[in-house]
Amino acid sequence: MALLGSTGSIGRQCLEIVRAFPERLKVVGLAGGRNLTLLQKQLEEFRPQLFYSLDPDFNPPGAEKVSLEEMAAHPDVDLVVVATSGGAGLKPTLAALRAGKDIALANKEVLVAAGELLIAEARERGITFRPIDSEHSAIWQCLQGEEGKEIEEVILTASGGPFRNLTQEEMAHITPEEALRHPTWKMGRKVTVDSATLFNKGMEVIEAHWLFGLDFEQIKIIIHPQAVVHSLVRFVDGSLKAQLAPPDMRLPIQYALSYPERWGNSELPQLDLEKLARLEFEPVNLDRFPCLRLALQAGREGGTYPAVLSAADERAVELFLSGQIGFLDIPELISWVLEQHEGKAHPSLEEILEIEPWVEEKVSEFVRSRGGVR
Ligand code: MG
Repeated sequence: MALLGSTGSIGRQCLEIVRAFPERLKVVGLAGGRNLTLLQKQLEEFRPQLFYSLDPDFNPPGAEKVSLEEMAAHPDVDLVVVATSGGAGLKPTLAALRAGKDIALANKEVLVAAGELLIAEARERGITFRPIDSEHSAIWQCLQGEEGKEIEEVILTASGGPFRNLTQEEMAHITPEEALRHPTWKMGRKVTVDSATLFNKGMEVIEAHWLFGLDFEQIKIIIHPQAVVHSLVRFVDGSLKAQLAPPDMRLPIQYALSYPERWGNSELPQLDLEKLARLEFEPVNLDRFPCLRLALQAGREGGTYPAVLSAADERAVELFLSGQIGFLDIPELISWVLEQHEGKAHPSLEEILEIEPWVEEKVSEFVRSRGGVR
């Protein structure tokens, strides 16, 4: 396999699975971001033949330096794990598809920005994405042995994040430290903030729309604080299937790697139903979570809107984490950028790639218009 984004949260957990199954998984390529100390350690441990690093001066001996696209399309690679973040995964995912590789996808921004394009390319080559997101892995597991046309609806569960019971006034004063403290999941910084705003769930609805060929009306969201039921599928006969496990990303990662097999792994936690005792579900209130509403709107509008949505959120979260805007400014900024955008249906790769710099410009305009940063 080639692992793109090896130093991130998903990348590191993916390597834990590789470590547990040395006879079944072999790392051919590792691509890391800015954490060179960790990338160096990973290269020494897994000894891949290929590596990629953002830093042009990072050139350790023993492996060949290649671009992300070259790594994704390399003849010795069977499976590409896309665990990059933001827009970075788009071109390598396309390169992997065009080279006929299997793809395990954790980078949801890729599908949100370019779902139509990627799914068309995948279908042409008979490739199905193996989702690493826990909700989509759950749906995928529920659908084994079923036909897509028998789905009535899917229900994505959301833990609700740490702020689901706060008032608007309290939300206005949320600090980056508070937003980064997720009650159930251990994740990267961006997705943790996206979980607190529920923006993440909106992205996941768009992701599910593309992965499973569902209409937006068929995709529901329910708050489930225990984060043990990872998602559900209701079939046309009324039967509801769910996948349950403790909230630990290593299981969906391992299933994407072992598919269509299942492998026993004593390091993965087991669910104790008697200890768990109860499962709670409650409806989601869109008024409390404007980021979720914006994401659902952009997803339904389609075309270039989801790419704008995703890029605007990425910048908004960065500004929030660096203390430059408040928690409630995140939806305000995203909404303003979306309003400035004139959408285009069925965008090409080039048109999608033009969106990030455009959003960047708009975000600077927004910040300037408000008299700079705080
Ligand atoms: Mg998820």
